[in-house]
Amino acid sequence: MNEYPDHSTLSRRRLLGLGATGAVAATLPASVIAQRPPAPDWPKPKQPVRNIIFMVSDGMSMGAFTLAEMMRKHKGMGPSHWRMLWDKPGVRRATCMTHSADGWVTDSAAAGSAWGCGEHINNRAINYTPDERTPEPIHITAQKLGKATGLVATSRITHATPASFIANVPTRDLEDAIAEQILDRNVDVALGGGAKHFPAELLAKHPDVTLARSLADLNAAANKTGRLLGLFHDDHCHYELDRPADLPSLRQMAEVALKKLENSNTGFVLQIEGARIDHAAHDNDAAGMIFDQIEFDETVGAVAKWAEDRDDTLIIVTTDHACANPGLTYYAESGNKSFDKLSKATRSFEWITQEFKKSDKSIDSLASIIETATSIRLDENELATLGKAAFERQPIDAFDIANGSLMTLGALLANHTGVAFLSPNHTADYVEVTALGPGSEEMPAFIDNIHLHSMMLAAMDTRVPD
Ligand SMILES: [Zn+2]
Repeated sequence: MNEYPDHSTLSRRRLLGLGATGAVAATLPASVIAQRPPAPDWPKPKQPVRNIIFMVSDGMSMGAFTLAEMMRKHKGMGPSHWRMLWDKPGVRRATCMTHSADGWVTDSAAAGSAWGCGEHINNRAINYTPDERTPEPIHITAQKLGKATGLVATSRITHATPASFIANVPTRDLEDAIAEQILDRNVDVALGGGAKHFPAELLAKHPDVTLARSLADLNAAANKTGRLLGLFHDDHCHYELDRPADLPSLRQMAEVALKKLENSNTGFVLQIEGARIDHAAHDNDAAGMIFDQIEFDETVGAVAKWAEDRDDTLIIVTTDHACANPGLTYYAESGNKSFDKLSKATRSFEWITQEFKKSDKSIDSLASIIETATSIRLDENELATLGKAAFERQPIDAFDIANGSLMTLGALLANHTGVAFLSPNHTADYVEVTALGPGSEEMPAFIDNIHLHSMMLAAMDTRVPD
């Protein structure tokens, strides 16, 4: 699986993100092709690019961005680091299309692959085209240029978005295979969750890799040479609301990754993903989503600070797609009080679900668990509605996909907080891209997600003398 064309043979067509043949484009619906912006002709950056840092707030609708910004202000934290980037001289912004080869609404596998290999592919596939080609993921290209590579995520590190920079698999479900590829393909730093996909037999094949399982391990490994694998949960890492203090936050993982990768003589490519903004939006969990977005934003601040005095690093901050389109929708004083209520949340919907499974599973227990997590006591009518959805599986909402029990809980809490969601799914909305540093100068105002792959390739074509 490591047989890729040499970087020097990359065609101009590939560099422009058009794919090797017209075959993939032909699978796109005609209406999508008609709306795609033309591929930018990326010039070589004016400055040499040593490093690329690609930051993803997974599933971040602009509503999630807005709510996190407002919560920061409510807590006296000031504007978000991401928004403050927009005021910096030379920073570019674009609106970006997110569709996959087989639909307007993408999943994270196809969207990540658009960045990873520069082609539109079908949902669920990772750098694996509808005609069964396996185009080279960007981390392999970077390695061929001698660069170090890193993946940091709050999901399982084998999840679709980190996988999209290193793996080739026909379906994202093959996470054991993705774990093997992360190690076999020599990623230098991989930090996240997903320990269950790294059995002892696999780790034994890579004795050079330092394994970290806690914040203390991670900090101790920061000054060691050699490859680093950090696995901080069996499954996804905890939501920020639920995270124990002895496990690292996204910002802490990113800072250690930067500390290790900055030692590379020829630079590095690092993907950093706040993965659970998407998961909370799927659950219609407003507080879980807002506090993970705030942690992602703290990570943007840490990366911006790291790059402050450098002129050799391309930074891209974006999302792969919108999810569930949350929004504050109460007017005047009721809306003003929303952040008072949301800021009292101490736990995610995931925690509510786990606690409920351990309880006697009565509606009274559910009400108490919800109150502990959100500081909101549902009244009798609300509990009756939740009971119908959760215990009797009765449709509550006229929009059929909105009838899951968590979406019903989200809607009931919206009566208190004013933050409501469109659905439990991703949406086709355009998304924000912020880019700064050499290589970003010519980003047009409207792009397709595959163009970000082209931007990275164009940036990497400029070698930094050792
Ligand atoms: Zn999702």
